[in-house]
Formats: sequence, structure tokens, C-alpha cells
Amino acid sequence: MRVDVITIFPEYLTPLREALLGKAIDKGLLELGVHDLRRWTYDVHKAVDDSPFGGGPGMVMKPQVWGEALDEVCAGDTPRLIVPTPAGRPFTQAMATELAQERRLVFACGRYEGIDQRVIDDAATRMPVDEVSIGDYVLVGGEVAVLTIVEAVVRLLPGVLGNPASHQQDSFSDGLLEGPSYTRPVVWRDRAVPDVLRSGNHAAIARWRRDQALERTFHRRPDLLEALPDSALDKHDRKL
Ligand code: SAM
Repeated sequence: MRVDVITIFPEYLTPLREALLGKAIDKGLLELGVHDLRRWTYDVHKAVDDSPFGGGPGMVMKPQVWGEALDEVCAGDTPRLIVPTPAGRPFTQAMATELAQERRLVFACGRYEGIDQRVIDDAATRMPVDEVSIGDYVLVGGEVAVLTIVEAVVRLLPGVLGNPASHQQDSFSDGLLEGPSYTRPVVWRDRAVPDVLRSGNHAAIARWRRDQALERTFHRRPDLLEALPDSALDKHDRKL
């Protein structure tokens, strides 16, 4: 997969080259381009923003600069453009799975009050565009949203995780939150690991994990349980 990020703070994206994502780059599974939006400014102040039509506080990112940046970064290709914004479609594990199928993603990081809407509308005539929110709160810029989205997507690419089965058991993959995990020692500060996990009985362990996942989801995210189709529950689940 190729990922391009356009931002006025390229250094903000440095963590994309660390840890698992850094390894994905080394292995050739991820190609990353980070572009400084100010490269496409021509004035002495390298201005990327201007005051909003209609008045109001804050500044809006200029369409000319963004237009040229996207024209150059996307030239000769049709990537999927992701524009982080609190007004976007909520980012979910399902969307991460969908984006992980793409050959190329381009991210446009907004700042201030966001990007002139015409940039997004114009890009949408040439490529698929998604305005995406990472949650119901307002950040100062799109960079942290991009770190979140790219990390969630790239870990799903084949070959990135050491054990490909591990993301299939993660929270949300079956519509539920994952239950608790334990490692050695068996007893720590008078707290023991549940016996069943040391029983060697794989069916009992699977049942216990499923029950824990259901219970945790019921208490913390009942909305997820409500959204689960009946077909996703077995007869033992229904007893809970
Ligand atoms: N005026 C905008 C609004 O109320 O919808 C908020 C702009 S915010 C201060 C600046 C930039 O941060 C946005 O353009 C977007 O790139 C990013 N951003 C802020 N919150 C976000 C969120 N929840 N999800 C994704 N991006 C976000």
C-alpha cells in the first residue's frame, strides 16, 4: 500500500516510521510520502489560510494551495482521498478493513477551521473521497487523526502483524469488545489468573473468552450488542 500525507506539520507524522509501521516500510509493505503543504505556496509568508467568507472566528485553508498540492500528489493516479474532519463519517474497524483493501490512500490534514469545501468537492469529481471523523471531539489538526487511521489500517495488511490471526480476535472483529488477558505469574498481588485459562481445555477456554467478551460489551458498549444480528449469537450466548 502507498500512503501520502499532505500537512503543514510534516514532523508530526514521524511516528508513522516507528515500530510496527516502520517495519512495514522496511519490509516494503508500506510506502510512505509526507508532503509539506507550504511547498505549493508562492507568497513570501507561505500563507495557507485566509479569513472565512460570511465572517466568524478562525481561518480557512486556501483552495488554491490545496488544489495544486492534490493535483501534484495524485497526478496520473486515482487514489482514495481521506479528509479528516469532526464532521465526517465515524472511523470504525469496519472502515479500517475497507481501507486496507486500497492500493493507495492520500490524506489531507486540515488545520484552523478546516479546508475550503470546494477542494473536497473538486477532488470528488476525480477520485473517491471520504470525510472521516475519529470521534466526537475536536482536535487542533488532522495529523493525529491520520496517525490513528493509518495505524489501524496498516496493521491489517498481510505480513504486518507477526501472527496474522491476532487481529481476527481483536475487539470489533466479531462485533464485540475483547475480554481480559493475563500472563505470568499465576498469582500477582493476591490476584490469580482464572483457572479455566490454565486448564488446557480449549473448548472451555473459548467459551469463557466468548462469555467475557459478551459481558464486557454488555456493560461498556451495549450499542454494539444491540447492533449485532441474531445470526452472530449462538444458543449459549443467548442464555447470558
Ligand atoms: N471547524 C471544524 C468543525 O467544527 O468541524 C473544526 C476544525 S479543527 C479545529 C481543525 C482540523 O482538525 C480539522 O480540519 C480536521 O482536519 C482535524 N480534526 C479535528 N477534530 C477531528 C476529528 N474528530 N476527527 C478527524 N479530524 C479532526
